[in-house]
Amino acid sequence: MNEIYDALELSLNDWQILFTNWGEAKFRAGQVCQWIYSKKVFSYHDMSNLSKTLRDKLSGNVLMTLPILIKQQTSRDGTRKFLWQLGDGARIESVLLNHGGHKTACISSQAGCPLGCVFCETGANGFTRNLTRGEILGQFLMMEKINGSDINNVVFMGMGEPLLNEGAVFSAIRSLNDKAMRNLGARHITISTSGIVPGIEDLADFEVPLRLSLSLHAPNDALRSKLMPVNRQYPLQKLTGALKHYRERTGERITIEYALIDRVNDEPEYAYEMAALLDGLEPYVNLIPFNPIPSRPELGRSGDSRVRAFCSALSELKIEYELRKERGGDIMAACGQLAGASLAK
Ligand code: SAH
Ligand code: SF4
Repeated sequence: MNEIYDALELSLNDWQILFTNWGEAKFRAGQVCQWIYSKKVFSYHDMSNLSKTLRDKLSGNVLMTLPILIKQQTSRDGTRKFLWQLGDGARIESVLLNHGGHKTACISSQAGCPLGCVFCETGANGFTRNLTRGEILGQFLMMEKINGSDINNVVFMGMGEPLLNEGAVFSAIRSLNDKAMRNLGARHITISTSGIVPGIEDLADFEVPLRLSLSLHAPNDALRSKLMPVNRQYPLQKLTGALKHYRERTGERITIEYALIDRVNDEPEYAYEMAALLDGLEPYVNLIPFNPIPSRPELGRSGDSRVRAFCSALSELKIEYELRKERGGDIMAACGQLAGASLAK
């Protein structure tokens, strides 16, 4: 009996091996990948430069499994949120952001997240499973198809911790970056992590020089361990060691994500602590407005005067920062608000 494959699970090399085994020319692999990744044609019968026999053989042997769109919402600011259902019924979300014509796809790497950061709705809803490379790519390709034109950037800031699913995430990124597949530049791909030290070290050695965002949210171990339990496993000294290694290996500046939570982490003294902690790293700090979540009503967004005080401390310390605007908050599409199955029905 023939083995059945799944198109999005195959790398270019896998396609080449498959076609060679079928007695077909190797360049057919590039043609199929162009249809899927560049033209977003997902039906083999529409791949007009392949013979009818080959199209039939593909239809019978290589499944084209894509996430099923369950629900789509558009925010007042143009942000779009997509709820997808996967083959086993797991539900995940992706977000399409629009910044002055530039589009960014915020995609999920896991169904849920096992890390339980107290400020994050994804974490509050527990963990289902890792996504496969095809499920990661499927979110992006479906959004591009729906969008009708190319999406410029990919950020792994949806549901889940990408560096706890390194195999699938790195494999998906190779295909996004591959010239014969989606050909998306490495500088247009960002991994956001809560601080998985071995993953950051692997990223430093990864052949595609990706951008790295570190979700810091607290500059000392006591507070960070309270907000982000993962800090107990990878405390700040180890974490900053890995960040320095990444910076030295890649030459890339690291973005630090810091959500300002009212009276929790927004004292100006924390800005001073952050500067000392990140000394020598030349970080670029993104101050994110905290997005309220249903499971933790006691956590609120810092008010303007507290935000201003935190910003002036950063300026005084000569730390480069940007005060981010909230996007998609009215449809629960902002950072940390993605909950998939439980809330978005
Ligand atoms: N697990 C990864 C990536 C997904 S979370 C990580 O933690 O980095 C994407 C970003 O949203 C992270 O920077 C995360 O810290 C932030 N975030 C989570 N909950 C948030 C909330 N309620 N308000 C603002 N940002 C939040
Ligand atoms: Fe997981 Fe990131 Fe949410 Fe923390 S912030 S629970 S690591 S998705």
